[in-house]
Amino acid sequence: MGFLNKPKLQVFLATFCSFTIFVPWGQTTSIAQAATKADIKLQPIYEQYGKRFDVPWGILAGIDRYAELSKTKADRNEHPFYGYAFDDVAWSGLSNPNSHDIDPMTISLFGGLGVDANRDRIASQIEAEDRIAALASWIDLESGESDLDECVWALFQDPVAMDRVFAFSRIFETFGLHPEGHCFPVDKRYNYTVKHTFGAGRSFGGRRIHEGVDIFASYGTPVLACSYGYVELMGWNRFGGWRVGIRDGDNYYYYYAHLSSFAKGVKQGSLVRPGQVIGYVGSTGYGPPGTAGKFPPHLHFGIYREIGHREWAFSPSSMLASWERQKQTVMRVKS
Ligand SMILES: [Zn+2]
Repeated sequence: MGFLNKPKLQVFLATFCSFTIFVPWGQTTSIAQAATKADIKLQPIYEQYGKRFDVPWGILAGIDRYAELSKTKADRNEHPFYGYAFDDVAWSGLSNPNSHDIDPMTISLFGGLGVDANRDRIASQIEAEDRIAALASWIDLESGESDLDECVWALFQDPVAMDRVFAFSRIFETFGLHPEGHCFPVDKRYNYTVKHTFGAGRSFGGRRIHEGVDIFASYGTPVLACSYGYVELMGWNRFGGWRVGIRDGDNYYYYYAHLSSFAKGVKQGSLVRPGQVIGYVGSTGYGPPGTAGKFPPHLHFGIYREIGHREWAFSPSSMLASWERQKQTVMRVKS
């Protein structure tokens, strides 16, 4: 299994509030815009080969999406196509003298993973159908049906990747590959004031900058999910108080803090839609669990982006402004 032995990346699992800014401001827009919709046309292929090899299509799509979102420039130069890329040696076969072999006959002779799924007599990763068929058949062979986890682990050897792939797969299978639509995170029928203080200094917790925007509103004002996504985190943090972290299928992470309470029926692992009530404005935080009232009630709202193992906050102001202009549909989920 030498082909899968990619260097194990070190994992930096920071607790949420200790994130710092790593990327110069100018870069955030270009990276944020790098999100691709190249996989829309791949959905029938995920479904076809998922079915054939008994692998959930969302897992195939999740593997591709995570792989795509974590590519370096060098990765992109080496394999200039969307999604997961096999090492050339894995594709062509370990003892194949031609590591760029695209002949299905010789690849099969040398035990490579490459297949000619679209029957053009070429087995090439550049052809999405060949690549996805090879991925699905490899997962089928490796995992049987029970150990999908180990399989995804073998592909990335990284616990963050595991979490993302399975979260993405749930989002995709429920909402599709690119669910459209966002929502302003506070119910607009209530009074509120947005304070654009991203990057300002803070008083509590030492030298940290303010990685978000504060939306001041009365206690109990409904806080809404602003995107389709997955509740990755929910609970107490001494800075954020009662807070929720929601990740979407493009690896944006939305952080809602200082809530007075959570909405019933929303739990860690829940899938949410834009406009769904996730909690209520409060003033919790800046102390041990339950601390409240050290500052006026408000929603602290932050957006983080993750590419590979880099994570950074960027100012949510322009996104908030555009969502604020849009019609809002508030939804409650019965518990
Ligand atoms: Zn804040």
